[in-house]
Amino acid sequence: MRFVDSHAHLADPAFDADRDDVIARARVAGATAIVCIGESLEAACRSRELAAAHPGFVHFSAGVHPHDAAAFDPARDTAAIRSEVERGAVAIGECGLDYHYDHSPRPLQRRAFAAQLALARETNRPVVVHSREAEDDTAAMVREAGAAGIRGVMHCFTGSHALARAALESGWYISFSGIVTFRKWADDDLIRLVPDDRLLVESDAPYLAPVPDRGKRNEPSWVARTVGRVAVARGSSPELVGELAVGRIEHVHNLTA
Ligand SMILES: [Zn+2]
Ligand SMILES: [Zn+2]
Repeated sequence: MRFVDSHAHLADPAFDADRDDVIARARVAGATAIVCIGESLEAACRSRELAAAHPGFVHFSAGVHPHDAAAFDPARDTAAIRSEVERGAVAIGECGLDYHYDHSPRPLQRRAFAAQLALARETNRPVVVHSREAEDDTAAMVREAGAAGIRGVMHCFTGSHALARAALESGWYISFSGIVTFRKWADDDLIRLVPDDRLLVESDAPYLAPVPDRGKRNEPSWVARTVGRVAVARGSSPELVGELAVGRIEHVHNLTA
């Protein structure tokens, strides 16, 4: 089976002891690509180095997470992210809105998200979006972005069907994580709501390890289990779902260009 990991934090210190082994295991398990998320400019820099060490397999993004939006300096950080795009970042993010933790004031979260959406438009890169308990504001900003021609991925999606529809109607993609393997997961209808040509899967490693390793450090090779669970929900096979995701990630991030 082939699959992809559309979202992994491989620059995280959790992988300092065995990062290359983790990446090698992902290849052996069938991964064709990993997008290493630079959720801060420091993480983006480390992710870029990782991508350079694993060309054509590890790709990287650059952005500022909503948790850190209060420290987002539009002029400085926009220039820094633009510079990462010039150095090969395949996407802007992760960025978005997190009203669950509220680590940054909401108006500042919206400001940082809007600035990164504008940058996505300017650089013709997709955005990787994190949204938690911010359904209405995310939907409004995604719809506006979609109307402006900006593409994006809703990462680790567990939101409402209304937000999923807002993203899909805007031409965006939806990525599922190991959360769909958890015992309390109860929304297979959401998994079926996403058409074949908009479906992605991810680890969000080192977080959100799928069952039966829930709570442990997650890694990209385990996305295979998430693919299996998504296939069950869709009445499909893991092989087919994995291939769909392989095709989609190449399309979203223009990986074959
Ligand atoms: Zn996230
Ligand atoms: Zn993330």
